[in-house]
Amino acid sequence: MEITQALHRAAQQTPDRPATIAGDRVRTWAECRERVARLAGALQGLGIGPGDRVAMLSLNSDRYHEYLFAVPWAGGVVTPVNIRWSPAEIAFSLEDAGATILLVDDTFVPAVPAIRAAAPVVATVVHCGDGELPDGTLSYEALVADAAPVPDARRGGADPYGIYYTGGTTGTPKGVVLSHTNLLASALGCAASGDFMTPGGRLLHAAPMFHLADGASWVARNVVGGTHVIVPMFTPAGVAAAIAQHEVTDVLLVPTMIQMLVDAPEAADADLSSLRHLLYGASPISEAVLERAAKRLPSAEFTQAYGMTELSPVATLLSPADHGVDRLRRSAGRAAPHSEVRIVDENDEEVPYGTVGEIVSRGPHVMIGYWNRPEETATALRGGWMHTGDGGRMDDQGYVYVVDRIKDMIVSGGENVYSVEVENALAKHPDVASCAVIGVPDEEWGERVHAVVVAVPGAAPTSDELREHVKGLIAGYKAPRTVELRDALPISGAGKILKRDLRAERWSAADRGVS
Ligand code: ATP
Ligand code: MG
Repeated sequence: MEITQALHRAAQQTPDRPATIAGDRVRTWAECRERVARLAGALQGLGIGPGDRVAMLSLNSDRYHEYLFAVPWAGGVVTPVNIRWSPAEIAFSLEDAGATILLVDDTFVPAVPAIRAAAPVVATVVHCGDGELPDGTLSYEALVADAAPVPDARRGGADPYGIYYTGGTTGTPKGVVLSHTNLLASALGCAASGDFMTPGGRLLHAAPMFHLADGASWVARNVVGGTHVIVPMFTPAGVAAAIAQHEVTDVLLVPTMIQMLVDAPEAADADLSSLRHLLYGASPISEAVLERAAKRLPSAEFTQAYGMTELSPVATLLSPADHGVDRLRRSAGRAAPHSEVRIVDENDEEVPYGTVGEIVSRGPHVMIGYWNRPEETATALRGGWMHTGDGGRMDDQGYVYVVDRIKDMIVSGGENVYSVEVENALAKHPDVASCAVIGVPDEEWGERVHAVVVAVPGAAPTSDELREHVKGLIAGYKAPRTVELRDALPISGAGKILKRDLRAERWSAADRGVS
């Protein structure tokens, strides 16, 4: 199977249906196929052959969608770049991936000289914005207009489709090589689960398209057919307006975005009643945010996905029906149709139901490997299972509860404290908009449970109040000993809270063994 099959099918069956809606620009599937065939011709003219990497550094756009099809059509491998990286980090990833062509939109034009200086591997820069053509770059639109269309190279199956970099939440991002089969297995598995994406519907891309959470929903939308509605980046007002204006049926959001969307006054009046499905995942969600979201989006069914870039990315799904069961709402669901999931101990032995261990998954969605990192690949994939680095437990019906990243677990006075459980309890306080719980050094306890809290506008809860609130919900030793109020939490390019930044402020590098 090939990722491009969906484009051939859509152009054949629904040629006049919009493929992409981005602002005022609407392009049909027939136009899309023609433009992709030409862009692929241009890429081949620039030297792209089987397996060659083409990078994209851009906010979300309809050209991102064309890029995701045109690169495999030309025979190449996509390498989406994290838009939050510094020029030095971008250059590192381009050199790491060996990307010879880089597409950039207007936002990133100013960074191009620094990137080129540090990444000599990039031979050609293509400007895919609408602004003035920068010196030394080729125009995307001119390439599409002037190149002759070429036949689809029909890369597929076990061929690499892309190198996707991990979110960089716990450290330096790793390049994950995913095949066409990996991505299609995950998308088809999710589609087979039923309540996932409205056939023929409209999917809003508000999460960054470079990240596989959005990338995978792009594949799934193509598999079931329909239209991509694209906004450049997430803002509560922009998302609300796009949903209302374009009658969006499906949206993928990470929990921080859901929280901002449902809490933002500027998005409070928009008509969001066209929404049928809200897909979320990529980090833990608190029940409090979930409840507020259900109230704000009554027309939508909720599906949670748990997984990681290395799993293309879905391992488990929590269905809309499961969301109706109190006990399950804290769970990340059960193994998706394409995936097998277990909980294992340090010796890779399966643990009994209810015991916390490491979550592992196997199936056709498991990555080919980390790019140029054979040792890390072998460790992560030992025994044929992808080791997630996430702590979790499973109940006797296969529901998985993610308790924490193993790296984030706090050991305080000899007791294990899972930050996710504490965050969940804190988030139930009406004054708490968002929060992060970390372990900080403590002479008496080894590590102390510390909470960083962002209050809802106008509120100023005290540490004592919040501690008492948590103690009313979970065991006292898990309550944060110290609480700190802030205006905002550090967020990664993929929209995840960067606990390592919060921790780094309090742990010296040596203490944590970080270089
Ligand atoms: P890096 O690997 O570079 O540190 P990252 O792990 O954040 O970054 P991703 O592949 O984007 O990179 O994220 C996968 C991780 O996100 C999982 O290992 C898990 O910790 C977390 N995650 C994903 N989905 C969920 C979910 N539904 N509930 C809780 N955590 C989740
Ligand atoms: Mg990871």
